Amino acid sequence: MKLEKYSLGVGDRFGCQGIAQLNAIKKAKNKGCHISPVWNKSHREHTIVDTTPQDVRAEADDAVAACRWELPYYVDADHICRDNVDSFVAASNFFTLDVADYIGEPADQVDIDDFVNHSRDLAGKVELPGMERNIELTEARIRDAATKYLGAASHAAELYKYIAGQKGAGQFITEVSMDETDEPQTPDELLLILKMLADLGVPAQTIAPKFSGSFFKGVDYIGDIDEFRKEFQSDIGVIKVAVNEFGLPENLKLSIHSGSDKFSLYPIMKEAMERFDVGVHLKTAGTTWLEELIGLALSGGSGLEIAKEIYSQALSRMGELCEPYATVVDIDPDNLPSSEQVNTWDGEIYANALRHDQTCDSYNPDLRQLLHVAYKVAAEIGGRYLDTLSGNELVVGENVTINLYERHIARLFPKIV
Ligand SMILES: [Zn+2]
Repeated sequence: MKLEKYSLGVGDRFGCQGIAQLNAIKKAKNKGCHISPVWNKSHREHTIVDTTPQDVRAEADDAVAACRWELPYYVDADHICRDNVDSFVAASNFFTLDVADYIGEPADQVDIDDFVNHSRDLAGKVELPGMERNIELTEARIRDAATKYLGAASHAAELYKYIAGQKGAGQFITEVSMDETDEPQTPDELLLILKMLADLGVPAQTIAPKFSGSFFKGVDYIGDIDEFRKEFQSDIGVIKVAVNEFGLPENLKLSIHSGSDKFSLYPIMKEAMERFDVGVHLKTAGTTWLEELIGLALSGGSGLEIAKEIYSQALSRMGELCEPYATVVDIDPDNLPSSEQVNTWDGEIYANALRHDQTCDSYNPDLRQLLHVAYKVAAEIGGRYLDTLSGNELVVGENVTINLYERHIARLFPKIV
């Protein structure tokens, strides 16, 4: 199984927007850009919403049948580890092995020495063909990287072998993620991590490093954009070296987590994809749930009421809701309107505050981030939330499709004008 050049992670908290999401991807296909949809949902999300990986499989299969989609599609066991992988094995054909928690966990000294010995020929200058920056490695740098990342790479290998033992090698896509951690991985570290994965027999087709700058959920990138451009290009160069020299799968590409809404980065990524003829995998999830809220608010009546109720609860439970997302949200509480204020809003005002339109004066990124983590509240409301959603599915679905297509796909993927 081989992942295509362009792919989009279309996570969906409540599993109701599969068709609306696939409609956005079909629109791209009609414009000549082939993107594979990947329905991703993490153990964290399943626990909060009380769903199972089989629900995601059913959503994907149903959407594909309803839209008569005849090209590949995938179901991603997102951010899994050894403790929670079992429930994902049958339903998934894409596995994101999350080893961020093992970064810094010491590996055996013998294994570290072994890696350093095997990698000595990388010391010196590593040419990244066609890139502005090359990489300079020393033996000390190789040893530092092994000390920091070999434990995590070994965990990825263990998990990969466990899944391969059940599904069979080649029967699923492997991604390795290290994004949910405090410190970014530099391009030279990425090169060494890929060497470790190759040595350990992990056939990664996508790799999700933590880039420099901040990738907070549901909002734009915060950081030095020019620096990001250089880092992103170096990472692409590193992947080319890893494919050519280490024997990793030739379709290996970068995976961008918390990838929705990074509007200031899409032109940079698009330019790099065109210039170096590579693809990316972009993961989105919460951006679709926020479009549900926008659609409900715009529908007025019980839709707007439930959108206000969710905000009010989210505001009073901010600490609890943000906790599982500690490294990926950054909310300024002083910039949040009170529930009383929001209760006076009509649907248009609510939607304008929440919708990610940076040209709109009423857009509030703090409110947006708070609502991003507030899907737990909607999950608790349960049946009444889902009923309101299906009662307004046309408006909601339209917002979901427009957001994915116009704000994400059309800005990021090449060939769409
Ligand atoms: Zn992630």
